[in-house]
Amino acid sequence: MKCPFCGYTEDRVSDSRQVDDGESIRRRRECLRCKQRFTTYERVEDVKLVVIKKDGSRQQFDRDKLIQGILKSCIKRPVTLEQIEKIVYKIENQNSNLLRKEIPTTEIGEQVMSQLKNIDEVAYIRFASVYKDFDDLQSFINELHYIMESEEDSENTENI
Ligand SMILES: [Zn+2]
Repeated sequence: MKCPFCGYTEDRVSDSRQVDDGESIRRRRECLRCKQRFTTYERVEDVKLVVIKKDGSRQQFDRDKLIQGILKSCIKRPVTLEQIEKIVYKIENQNSNLLRKEIPTTEIGEQVMSQLKNIDEVAYIRFASVYKDFDDLQSFINELHYIMESEEDSENTENI
């Protein structure tokens, strides 16, 4: 963030909090060069998330890439692009609201899965098989059993 006093681009954030019912984030900053303090407001949707990949490297959260990834799992399934965009939007919002800046990709994967599960099970399983990186066939089968059991449970509840 550029210092409004001297134009220097590096600063220290001393406080972050949500304002406007969580729609904006207010940050108190101190310029590392001239030491002047200033306040910035960022829309939650503009807050940049960084993902931590499995090898520990960091990357800017890429909304389109995530949408593409979910789309692949939804080939020939009755899932609309709008539903997928909503999943991604929710994930961005949810993490920004927690004022988190860095999230492991595995956690994003989990968040996608928990939402996809309620939309389409086939898409969910496809996505899970990529994201969970099953080490062997058995753990994949275990996951399938788990899904089918919870499916039965929800059917039972519907019957009651
Ligand atoms: Zn300055």
